[in-house]
Amino acid sequence: MKAAKPKMQSHTRTGWALLRKHPSRSGVLAVWGAFPQDLLMPTCDLASVLPCEAGHACQRRVIEHDAGDAVGICMQNPEHCDTRSVSKSERAIYRLDEGKLFQRIAEVLSIRRDVQSVSQSPDVWSLGRIPMAGDRGLPVFFGFVGARDIDQVLSKLILTSRDHFLLIVSDSNCLKPSHHEAALVCRSRIIALDDVLSLAPDGTMSTVTAGPATVDTWITEVAPSHSGVGSGIRFPTPPETTWRDITITFLSRDIISVKCSALPAANFERLHIAEMFAANSREKNPTDKWYLLMAFAARGPCLKMADLMKLFRSTNRLKIRKQKSELSKALQAFFGIRSEPLPFCKSRNAYEPELVIRQDTNTNLEDWLADAAN
Ligand SMILES: [Zn+2]
Repeated sequence: MKAAKPKMQSHTRTGWALLRKHPSRSGVLAVWGAFPQDLLMPTCDLASVLPCEAGHACQRRVIEHDAGDAVGICMQNPEHCDTRSVSKSERAIYRLDEGKLFQRIAEVLSIRRDVQSVSQSPDVWSLGRIPMAGDRGLPVFFGFVGARDIDQVLSKLILTSRDHFLLIVSDSNCLKPSHHEAALVCRSRIIALDDVLSLAPDGTMSTVTAGPATVDTWITEVAPSHSGVGSGIRFPTPPETTWRDITITFLSRDIISVKCSALPAANFERLHIAEMFAANSREKNPTDKWYLLMAFAARGPCLKMADLMKLFRSTNRLKIRKQKSELSKALQAFFGIRSEPLPFCKSRNAYEPELVIRQDTNTNLEDWLADAAN
């Protein structure tokens, strides 16, 4: 039988890892340890449990007496830890002053601050935007999130943010290569608080140059696509990719998931792919080419010309051909692949996509396709 290996303590862990010990980001000073006190603010609450002396894993329960004094009694090792009186200042609960932390981050990354909580994500904030010439700027988000939640926060931001974004997470130990890849797919970035501000074990906070450098590189990468009128998100197609490497899956009428080679699947919302699938940014209803893409997903893989004419209630072949050619162009622009994605097979009188276009098993596009001819 194998002996259980002792867990290695990570030596790269910095003071920010302390935040993980405080899910509510609050605690008594003894628990905060060397955490910088100027990032903490006192609350009106008093702790009812205090850690015993440093190095002990046990805790004292606080018993209050009428006169206002209180004693702490060790709950786990009363024979080792004395029962002693505890002062109010020892019991005072301090919580992280997020505003001050965000201010420091904003200074380092030159963010135009506009701090707002992100709805339905209690541990995620929008910090504001990094200004860019002639633009609204690039949004920056901050999340106090652990490894398990990063995926969820990322996919939510990918779905809801209309721009490329920067996400800063509190704990660098939770960041995995797959997170970086997922962010890259929508030309966004994810970095850790450690990349911006370092916190030494003695509580000294200092600026890290790596973070701002990463952010600068990222801005020059995404800025060109931002300045052009009518430009939208493009898929970061790896070189040598062919249509056969690509699968488009409809998750709903307006959301597709794109899987390409070894890249993790990424979701895109129709309205965010401006140059592709909306006639203009105010367009709320799908365009003809989007309906055609839906038709491939719902009734494909191959679609006969006669069936398409019926679906779009058209007697004009040329109109269908033009609609197909526009969808091909949009796919070529989005993926940056020159060859024809939806070739026509004369002998079968049908379009036979080179890529996989399907609908999720929980999705039924038929109801929406009924609107296609309207
Ligand atoms: Zn104790």
